Amino acid sequence: MAQRLDGKALAQAVRTDVRQEITAWRDAGHRPPMLKVVLIGDHPASAAYVRGKEKDAAEVGIDTETLRYPESIAEDELLDVVQALNADAAVDGVLVQLPLPDHINEQRVIHAIDPAKDVDGFHPENMGRLLIGDPAFIPATPYGILEMLKRSDIATEGQRAVIVGRSNIVGKPMAALLLQRTANATVTVCHSRTRNLSAHTQAADILVAAVGRAGFITADMVKEGAVVIDVGINRVDDPSRERGYRLVGDVDFEPVAEKAGWITPVPGGVGLMTRAMLLVNTLHAAKQHAG
Ligand code: NDP
Repeated sequence: MAQRLDGKALAQAVRTDVRQEITAWRDAGHRPPMLKVVLIGDHPASAAYVRGKEKDAAEVGIDTETLRYPESIAEDELLDVVQALNADAAVDGVLVQLPLPDHINEQRVIHAIDPAKDVDGFHPENMGRLLIGDPAFIPATPYGILEMLKRSDIATEGQRAVIVGRSNIVGKPMAALLLQRTANATVTVCHSRTRNLSAHTQAADILVAAVGRAGFITADMVKEGAVVIDVGINRVDDPSRERGYRLVGDVDFEPVAEKAGWITPVPGGVGLMTRAMLLVNTLHAAKQHAG
């Protein structure tokens, strides 16, 4: 039976560290780090994510402000908002909550964020830096996964890591991170065109599932004793719940947990680490900003 990688406890440990660092930073005479979040429209999931970010930030001593705009905002107007935040010396981190409405080009908005304030790590400059191993803001989900492994003393060196999913926010930066000389894993990235996916996943010492399909990774796809990291967040109908659904990951949890060595639950796994690493990135931005 797999040991659980407890995202709640690990994220709490990260927040405690960040809070202590911020206290020391304030004691040295600095103002609190400032994160500005831009939220477009009233997408319930986005609003919930933003509330979570505000709550976490308050807990560790990061100031936040959420700028809310209607779904109908023009792209140029949003770009002006981003430029103003870039130019504001009192702002350390800028985060535009995704997804954006269809009439707005997401890439154009991400490119407009000052890379030095890009706490999501989605700007091409930060992506490029990550790839070549220069200091960078690292996207919070893969960063959180690596931190989970580190804090649980799970070695990556020489391990065969297989990532299912190649998105710019999870799969690709996860591959880049695991490939760094600091992690030294041997990395395979799989996607919807991968032939014989199971042959790859069965060989994985560390398997990262970032597909977006409930229960996609079944026990027969997993090697005995593997570390299984479930990034997926999927809604499945559940009439027994008041809200009518529950959240599950990309991993068929119970059967895979029987076989794996380590496993992350959903909820209570990677998602909480993602939230915590945004705080790490914001503190980092504030320190860089102060010189
Ligand atoms: P995307 O939809 O951008 O990417 C999904 C990836 O899965 C694609 O690369 C796709 O391949 C691949 N894929 C789809 N079907 C298959 C298949 N049959 N076989 C192999 N690969 C397949 O998703 P994201 O990376 O943004 O997110 C993935 C999941 O993680 C979602 O459930 C999302 O909600 C969740 N998520 C969770 C976070 C957290 O904090 N826990 C943070 C971000 C995301 P192709 O490229 O060929 O289309």
